[in-house]
Amino acid sequence: MSWDLLEADHLVGLDDPARAAALFKRAVSMVEIEVFSYCNRKCWFCPNSSIDRTGENHYMPEAMYASVIGQLASIDYDGTISYSRYNEPLSDEVIYERLAYAHARLPRARLHTNTNGDYLRADTVPRLHAAGLRSLNIQLYLANDERYDHEKTRFRASQTLRRLGLPATVVRDEPGHWHELRVDYPGMEIRLYGRNFEINGTSRGGAVDIHRDYVRSSPCLMPFNAVYIDHGGEMVPCCNLRSDVAAHRDAVIGTLATQPDLFLHYAGRFAAGFRRSLLDASPKQGVCGDCRFALEELSLPRLMKMDVLKLIARTGVQPEPARRRVIPLAAA
Ligand code: SF4
Ligand code: SF4
Repeated sequence: MSWDLLEADHLVGLDDPARAAALFKRAVSMVEIEVFSYCNRKCWFCPNSSIDRTGENHYMPEAMYASVIGQLASIDYDGTISYSRYNEPLSDEVIYERLAYAHARLPRARLHTNTNGDYLRADTVPRLHAAGLRSLNIQLYLANDERYDHEKTRFRASQTLRRLGLPATVVRDEPGHWHELRVDYPGMEIRLYGRNFEINGTSRGGAVDIHRDYVRSSPCLMPFNAVYIDHGGEMVPCCNLRSDVAAHRDAVIGTLATQPDLFLHYAGRFAAGFRRSLLDASPKQGVCGDCRFALEELSLPRLMKMDVLKLIARTGVQPEPARRRVIPLAAA
């Protein structure tokens, strides 16, 4: 997210629906929706290693999904909608219906998903494209408890490509660290990659044992430009948090089952307070304390911007025009 999109309204807590929708329209470019709960794996680097998602599949109610898409259509949303949270999106045929529904109502949005690749067949990519998907990340995972192995990851890439029957080009090959290919398919961006989570992973809000000794002081902009919706309608501020992890429950910014207005949850008092807690250079607390995700570089203009926005949010006083010219950070 551009720092230029941060504004005092992100920090005050809005209860006016029109103002909340306008703020969402200006700032949000990622909406992640978990249309059902099921995942077939229990990867060691994922909170699903201790929270069971392999049992009964719980679906987001269709009416709730339609409400979210309808609200996004009301602001002519043109950002990304991602369909992967802590489920495996391609494990259930309902994904094609949900994609087609969103594509028809949000023609300017970019529909995206991640997948663990287990359900891919030769006809999967054409079907996803026909339903409106335009971006696909295929993850190359090994067995649930297996640590990263570069040669095995390369082999898994070749197996996946054989199933897809599509051409691909290696774009990144760092032994012990990362292996990635670009898969060619007209009208869809497809990445196929495996990564070493022991090196480049994060603790997912303390839910998995990765880099737990890290101390985060960086600000975080994720809760400013994105919203994440669990299958039950609970909204959380970033991709690392989820409503079914007990330690994350306090970070739920709202529940669509009781208040369907997506924009009011995003702009509301609780979300604003969460954002304020992330907008400085001091060590972060709670679920954000050891997070290595989405780190931001600091500079004097950014430090000044954070202070000025907090001041405006607290006092309601706008800076003098002469000072206001200092705030935009295009050159930061
Ligand atoms: S990382 Fe993905 S595939 Fe693995 S358990 Fe988590 S949601 Fe499932
Ligand atoms: S610091 Fe990490 S856990 Fe906290 S909101 Fe940002 S990405 Fe999420």
